[in-house]
Amino acid sequence: MAFRIAQALSTIGKLALAGAIGASIMAGDLAAQQKQPSPGSAKAIFGAATLPTQGGPQPFGFYAKGCMAGAEALPTDGPNWQAMRLSRNRRWGNPAMLSVLEQLSRDAAKYDGWPGLLVGDIAQPRGGPMFNGHASHQIGLDADVWLTPMPSQRMTAEQREALPFTTMLQKNAFLTINPNVWTPAHARLLMRAASYPQVERIFVNPAIKKKMCDTWTGDRTNLGKLRPEYGHDSHFHIRIKCPPGATSCKPQAPVAAGDGCDQSLAWWFTKAPWAAPKPPKPDAKPVKPREVMVSDLPNACAAVVAAPSVASVRAATFGGVSAAEALSVAPAAEPAAANDDELPDVGPIPDDKPAAQ
Ligand SMILES: [Zn+2]
Repeated sequence: MAFRIAQALSTIGKLALAGAIGASIMAGDLAAQQKQPSPGSAKAIFGAATLPTQGGPQPFGFYAKGCMAGAEALPTDGPNWQAMRLSRNRRWGNPAMLSVLEQLSRDAAKYDGWPGLLVGDIAQPRGGPMFNGHASHQIGLDADVWLTPMPSQRMTAEQREALPFTTMLQKNAFLTINPNVWTPAHARLLMRAASYPQVERIFVNPAIKKKMCDTWTGDRTNLGKLRPEYGHDSHFHIRIKCPPGATSCKPQAPVAAGDGCDQSLAWWFTKAPWAAPKPPKPDAKPVKPREVMVSDLPNACAAVVAAPSVASVRAATFGGVSAAEALSVAPAAEPAAANDDELPDVGPIPDDKPAAQ
């Protein structure tokens, strides 16, 4: 696996050398493909926030309909993690979420033979709906983690944009795990994450859930937290419970008892979830879905939009000085990406699979 990543990184290097012209054309194409939200929509307003609000952390609403105050940024680098796709500015979360990521990164390296986490999207600085990629991730209690282990070297900001996703699925086969990429360490990582009492559920591809059902021989108490979902074949999605005292956070109904290796999983292996939507009746009026406005979110979200910002990214970075000290204990092969008060303009955004949850 390490070799594959080294190979991918070297390919990225060669591609970069191959010419900036090609890259900029590609970026332009990507930008053209993106559907921009209308001005004034919740996606446009929350997507424009570059810094979180001052004050303590507070989620408002539900995972797929809400916002957050007092977010903190996951440092771009930790002893056992590297944050990816920094240009998206989505490494903001409730500190309870960030501490789960920190703990998972440490435990997985120590006990599970997983060298470290590549952390994908958490949330926007003030949460809220995003214009691409996710239905949830709105209140700082959801985080995506790659199913690719962290490489031993520190990646540059450019490498973190360009490292391709690796699917765990076999190409040209229906919901089948690729034995050349899936390892027992993947299984241990998922069950480690599921073992934390704060973790509410974890979304994985149905093929991954089935693989876990078929092969996990350890304690299956938390296997039910792994929930089959569309996509999620190159990353998994950790959702934590509403933190204690977060009275404006709307909890999700708990997962059903049992390991989930039952009819609810078997359904994914039928035609039903993959059938094309029925064409509308010829005489039906086309329905244009209305965009979500801030007024559709919990009332507190209008105040979150208007609230003053923290002074800088550094001022709101999780762990503060101690995280930086922890990093100096584990020296990086390359300097960490410069990413503090000056956030880069939005660069090319990878074509991510929309999450269905
Ligand atoms: Zn996600």
